[in-house]
Amino acid sequence: MTNRIKNFKTSEQLFERAQKTIPGGVNSPVRAFRAVGGNPVFIRAAQGAYLYDEDNNRYIELINSWGPMILGHAHPLVEQAVSQVMRNSFSFGAPTKLEVEMAELIVKMVPSIEKVRMVNSGTEACMAAIRVARGYTGRSKIIKFEGCYHGHADSFLIAAGSGATTMGTPDSLGVTQGVAQDTLIAPYNDLSFVEKLIEANPNQVAAVIVEPVAGNMGCVPPKKGFLEGLRHLCTQHGIVLIFDEVMTGFRLAKGGAQELLGVIPDMTTLGKIIGGGLPVGAYGGKKEIMDCVSPQGKVYQAGTLSGNPLAMAAGYAMLSYLDEHPEVYSYLEKIGRDLREGMMQISQKFNRKFTVNQIGSMITFFFTEKPVENFEDAKQSDLEKFKRYFQGMLRRGIYLAPSQFESLFLSTALQEADIQEILVAHEQALSEIL
Ligand SMILES: *Cc1c(COP(=O)(O)O)cnc(C)c1O
Repeated sequence: MTNRIKNFKTSEQLFERAQKTIPGGVNSPVRAFRAVGGNPVFIRAAQGAYLYDEDNNRYIELINSWGPMILGHAHPLVEQAVSQVMRNSFSFGAPTKLEVEMAELIVKMVPSIEKVRMVNSGTEACMAAIRVARGYTGRSKIIKFEGCYHGHADSFLIAAGSGATTMGTPDSLGVTQGVAQDTLIAPYNDLSFVEKLIEANPNQVAAVIVEPVAGNMGCVPPKKGFLEGLRHLCTQHGIVLIFDEVMTGFRLAKGGAQELLGVIPDMTTLGKIIGGGLPVGAYGGKKEIMDCVSPQGKVYQAGTLSGNPLAMAAGYAMLSYLDEHPEVYSYLEKIGRDLREGMMQISQKFNRKFTVNQIGSMITFFFTEKPVENFEDAKQSDLEKFKRYFQGMLRRGIYLAPSQFESLFLSTALQEADIQEILVAHEQALSEIL
């Protein structure tokens, strides 16, 4: 039943070539398959739930461009919207009607957003959001959580120091100690640690930034009371609470995790789905905070291609479809649950009890038997087994995220038969390694 892939010849040749002119052969590190060994697959095309590589191998798609393709690949609505707008030129660097419509739609869909600024990536959105929070509060420090990812701006590439009173340290060459000292790190789901950080840095914390459902250490949902507790602490101490919904926005509900979980931040960052596959990000929040942004206020932030018409057309088509089709989310929850339950039943056949974290269309199968509630827990996973499992799935035409510390992203293009095919491959791949 499962489709067996025999060779990746063209991808191997392309990767050889790529390494000569592109650092590591890729334009973003996780694509290089370093965590799972072997060569990355070069994708030629995709349609609906399937990817096709340069050797014409077919894969069931479980990454979906790291989230944006929530309706499956090459959705006709998005395609039509982009091709229509394209005829009127691709960029003006001047205001357009589409930007106004896009802003109105975002404000309507996302509970915390009263005003919004478009940018070109999730990284830009998060970088700008903390600058605005700093400008608004007049404070310097931010708190982030271990295992959460907020893009590659300097302030976020910081590792934990040792204990609540010590500052962070650079987690990448090129990030200065000066920047690191303003980023404080807490374990995910640990409210009392956050409380200690705030106490140790009185009137110095401008923002707490958090993935309301973490997806960048694998899928890790918040424990009951965690987000509510952050909300309370931030209100109490005049700190701007930022939900980084670059991944969860428009994915877990049309208004994101904040709508699903009923906790409203002061600011929200968006990306991925918001561009329908084109490079888009956005940040928004309370009027009072967003009015600090230039030219209204004194926090500078700009972008030559921000609000680009092609990107706005794609994003608007995607968001308005999601806004009008609530059944998207019940369907994604259903197939997400089917996949989780199927995986858990298969684990029982092997007499094992792996942890499968799932919420809506985000799911991670962890090679550990212990619950995964933070990055430390996630790191207990057997990475050697994951590596072999990943390769087994790839050879069976299932395209997983090439790291244990990533979430999978389901799309509405997946049918029940695809879920069954994934589960058959899952059982076979596990049987090879357990
Ligand atoms: C992907 C992601 C980002 C970064 O977005 P880019 O568009 O890759 O710059 C930031 N935050 C979260 C939660 C993400 O998942």
